[in-house]
Amino acid sequence: MSIENVIIIGSGPAGFTAGIYTARAQLNPLLITGNEIGGQVAITYEVENYPGFPEGLSGPELVERFQKQAERFGTRIEYDYVSAVNFKVYPFVIETQSGQTYQAKSVIIATGATPRKLRVPGEEELTGRGVSYCATCDGFFFRGKEVVVVGGGDSAMEEAIFLTRFATKVTVIHRRDTLRASKILQQRAFSNEKITFLWNTIVTEIKAGPDGAVNAVTIKDVKTGETRDFPTQGVFIFIGHDPNSAIFEGQLEMKDGYIVTDRYMHTSVPGVFAAGEIQDNHFRQVATSVGQGTMAAMEAEKFLAALAASSDTGPLPMPAMPEAVPA
Ligand code: NAP
Repeated sequence: MSIENVIIIGSGPAGFTAGIYTARAQLNPLLITGNEIGGQVAITYEVENYPGFPEGLSGPELVERFQKQAERFGTRIEYDYVSAVNFKVYPFVIETQSGQTYQAKSVIIATGATPRKLRVPGEEELTGRGVSYCATCDGFFFRGKEVVVVGGGDSAMEEAIFLTRFATKVTVIHRRDTLRASKILQQRAFSNEKITFLWNTIVTEIKAGPDGAVNAVTIKDVKTGETRDFPTQGVFIFIGHDPNSAIFEGQLEMKDGYIVTDRYMHTSVPGVFAAGEIQDNHFRQVATSVGQGTMAAMEAEKFLAALAASSDTGPLPMPAMPEAVPA
């Protein structure tokens, strides 16, 4: 088995950017996509705040451009899912769902995060039958119907606005009486005639009608404690994200499920870098993930250059901790 210079895990903005940079650095990177190519941006209807595209562009189109650019410089793309890693041996070992085993001198983790679940009765059973986490994917099926959106952040507002293209009425259910979303999105949502708000309200159950599809949510006013059923045909949930980090448990230092990195994108294991939402639960922008992918790639390049300078022949030594970097 040949030893890869660098394996990039994940195909969101951070992963593809790491591909572009490491490929241009002649490192012949291998990028393993994961199940959803492009990650969260691939299911974003429109990206308006990524510099260089003044008119905005669709999430899928941006992903396509990222991928094309990474491939143009020679990034090899494997459509596979990493099922296990071993960072306790060197070269590092990476196993995939399709049964492949790879060895790598360095790894860039860019596995991102996935939409958080409400964890209420009915949610799991009715996913795909009225419950959705992706307005871009499923909005079309709700033409002429009434839907609810759960959450008060940017995603909830953006997707609620998008859903008004199809639904006759969109009710935003938010657990507080103020939104977390940016002012511009708040204004757009407030001025949209099809959007109404239920404040201080949580969803406690999602119910199905005789046809097995969603026909109501049970809601609770958190101030009065009053509970009632609210008829709806669709439930779109946008309440944040959970990092895709399960396979790194016990291998790397983590905090609240996120991989801990220093400001140079170094993880607790020398030679393993992380970029994007897997290590950043604060900024979570395409632009910041792209920046972090760039940093991780540049650091991987430096790491490999130092390794090449220090090891002549024979088996690769476990790399030493890099010099302490200022936090
Ligand atoms: P978010 O900002 O974390 O907002 C999550 C929302 O869901 C909050 O309003 C939160 O309520 C609510 N929530 C969380 N857990 C809940 C629960 N169990 N039950 C009910 N409600 C719950 O997540 P996001 O909207 O997905 O955004 C993530 C990041 O991406 C943010 O940094 C955002 O700025 C960014 N983003 C940017 C854009 C854009 O710039 N166009 C678009 C999308 C996302 P509380 O407010 O009470 O905490």
